Amino acid sequence: MKPAIRIGQGFDAHAFADGDHVMLGGVRVPHTRGVAAHSDGDVALHALCDAILGALALGDIGQHFPPSDPRWRGADSRQFLRHCVELAHARGWMVGNADLTLICERPKIGPHAAAMRAILAEDMGIAIDDVSVKATTTERMGYTGREEGIAAMAVALLHAAA
Ligand code: MG
Repeated sequence: MKPAIRIGQGFDAHAFADGDHVMLGGVRVPHTRGVAAHSDGDVALHALCDAILGALALGDIGQHFPPSDPRWRGADSRQFLRHCVELAHARGWMVGNADLTLICERPKIGPHAAAMRAILAEDMGIAIDDVSVKATTTERMGYTGREEGIAAMAVALLHAAA
């Protein structure tokens, strides 16, 4: 019998644009730039949604929330995450834990990581201890290193509901 767990991974990136903050993990992080995006451009939430959708083998966030749909203009990406979690629950799966890595030179993530974990945990209905938010730079290499944009990776583990 197969073990009653499933794993998924997600990735997202957005270019910086004019603005004074970036939304990351549902937290409004002050910055000298914003992000170019149809929704609120929250790369952490988008990567996490794709991780959950991936674990469910239900496609990707672009299929569930098409950028061409005017409903998602400027949308709060937390609703995307909550929807993905509902899709999991409807299929008998619970989120066990999630691990995120944000990739950028700036803004600094550390001061906001605890707030992000609390929001992500709330939206997934799990404990803060089951949500990890880490950050790294790319040592000035590539598009994140040149501060052209910001990226995020996520992994989520699902387990069968008891
Ligand atoms: Mg995105």
